[in-house]
Amino acid sequence: MSDQTAVPASAQPLLEVVPLGGLGEFGLNMLAISYADTLLVVDAGSMFPEPELLGVDLIIPDLTYLQQHPARSTAVVLTHGHEDHIGALSHVMRTLKGPVYGTPLTLALAESKLVERQIDTQDRLIAVRPRDKIAVGDFTIEFLRVTHSMPDCVALAIHTPVGIVVCTGDFKIDQTPIDGEHFDFHRLAELGVAGVLALFSDSTNIERPGFTGSELSVIEAFEEIFASTKGQIVVTSFATSIFRVQVLVNLAAQFNRKVAFVGRGMVETSQTAQRLGYLKIPAGLAIRDSDVKAHPRSSVLCLVTGSQGEPLSALSRIAINDHRHVNLSPDDVVVFSAREIPGNERSIDRVVNHIARRGADIITQGDKHVHVSGHASAEELKLMLSLVRPRCFVPIHGGFRQRSRHARVGERLTRDLPNRVSVLMAENGDLLRFDRDGGTVAGKVPTGRVLIDGAAISGLGDEVLRDRRHLAEDGLMVPVIAINKQTGMIEGVPEIITRGLAMEQGDDSPLRDAARLIAELIESASLEERTDYGMMKEKLSVELRRFIRKRFGQRPLVLPVIMEI
Ligand SMILES: [Zn+2]
Ligand SMILES: [Zn+2]
Repeated sequence: MSDQTAVPASAQPLLEVVPLGGLGEFGLNMLAISYADTLLVVDAGSMFPEPELLGVDLIIPDLTYLQQHPARSTAVVLTHGHEDHIGALSHVMRTLKGPVYGTPLTLALAESKLVERQIDTQDRLIAVRPRDKIAVGDFTIEFLRVTHSMPDCVALAIHTPVGIVVCTGDFKIDQTPIDGEHFDFHRLAELGVAGVLALFSDSTNIERPGFTGSELSVIEAFEEIFASTKGQIVVTSFATSIFRVQVLVNLAAQFNRKVAFVGRGMVETSQTAQRLGYLKIPAGLAIRDSDVKAHPRSSVLCLVTGSQGEPLSALSRIAINDHRHVNLSPDDVVVFSAREIPGNERSIDRVVNHIARRGADIITQGDKHVHVSGHASAEELKLMLSLVRPRCFVPIHGGFRQRSRHARVGERLTRDLPNRVSVLMAENGDLLRFDRDGGTVAGKVPTGRVLIDGAAISGLGDEVLRDRRHLAEDGLMVPVIAINKQTGMIEGVPEIITRGLAMEQGDDSPLRDAARLIAELIESASLEERTDYGMMKEKLSVELRRFIRKRFGQRPLVLPVIMEI
């Protein structure tokens, strides 16, 4: 004790951890961990924008802290391939020059996005396997297998000069994993015995008592559906829920149905997973979506994107009878095999209503056990705490509500043990400083959300200011459209409010053309499409942006407002 006080604290480098996202929202998971000249980023997640944020394709964490942080050794480590952990990777890779480590499936899913965003991935993506160890500056990072809703997920044990930091990533404890790859209890327990300085653990499902259950647990409900459905079976799920896709592929084989992957995400993810051997599809089972109509409805299973009611997804198109290859009829069954992400309830409800009009039967997790979460429930989270026995515990991944509950659980769990856990409740942007004994919140770094549109492939500095610049340079257009509630038709001429557009100068003929375009779009839409305002707004926004880009070379933010009268 006296030895340590003799050395001025500033002379010893401290371990610093900054959550840049994922605390207070679902998505944007990212932690920056640094010591002296080493900077490690754990996960680089994004988040999908709410439907109101038209013109925005993606939300990522503010990366100013990474830009401003000097470090000689840098690297990104990825726990798994979900968007909320890899979606911001292209932006992070432009900021940090070091390599990116992840398991083969995680890297393959990340790579397709990087290529799309024109990132040179050469030599920078390094595949690791569970139990591998890698060195990054002063850190040694160990990868530990955990189970989740997709294959190839890992937790991290980061050995630092100050102590071991364990990041769980997303996990649940699935004791009958579909790929036969088991959760690494043994190594986590060994680390616990050796002594872990800090545990950063997933809080998503802390409010659920008991255990989450295996990915296998949905089979029974689906067997009933396969056995009783006369028409086509359409299942919507996240494309990255690869275990769910495997369960459905197996059932299709068993019940003599062909499988069609419908929607870009489904097609691409299933191809990647199949190519790498994580998804096994019997030969001859898969058909293209364009071949669906050539098969009897009773022998087809369609796996489609759109479980969150995204307006342009395959399921939304199918629901309004506007998909080229797949339609619905009364003998069909549509299964929602995914959770509703908070905020998407209205969009999902809209799609469900359209499906109901088609006469198809709709099954959600409220009706049958057709979905199981990939996140640990309370008992599994307690087990993680008991195995790792950290000196300091930081709940992450979830709102304040989930994280504070997780904190209380951690405190209660270790109350009677000789070494009680100390809980650190952090917020995004908090600078957590650790020495060998524990950690404290020692400051605040710049943090927030950055909105990205599809064209954003420029450097990061630009992107931080993108939405402001977007308005400044490309302007804003707000068409206000009155629609008659009875007829669904447009009333009067749409009023168009603009700011910063070249078309405002003197001549108002472009505004009249835009108004005419709006009227045409609404009149040519089907009645069902016309009364679905979410879809109409999306369509108007896309077409108006195209019109302005062609005429004036500008890409304004277009925010249609539809009023019912
Ligand atoms: Zn996650
Ligand atoms: Zn996940």
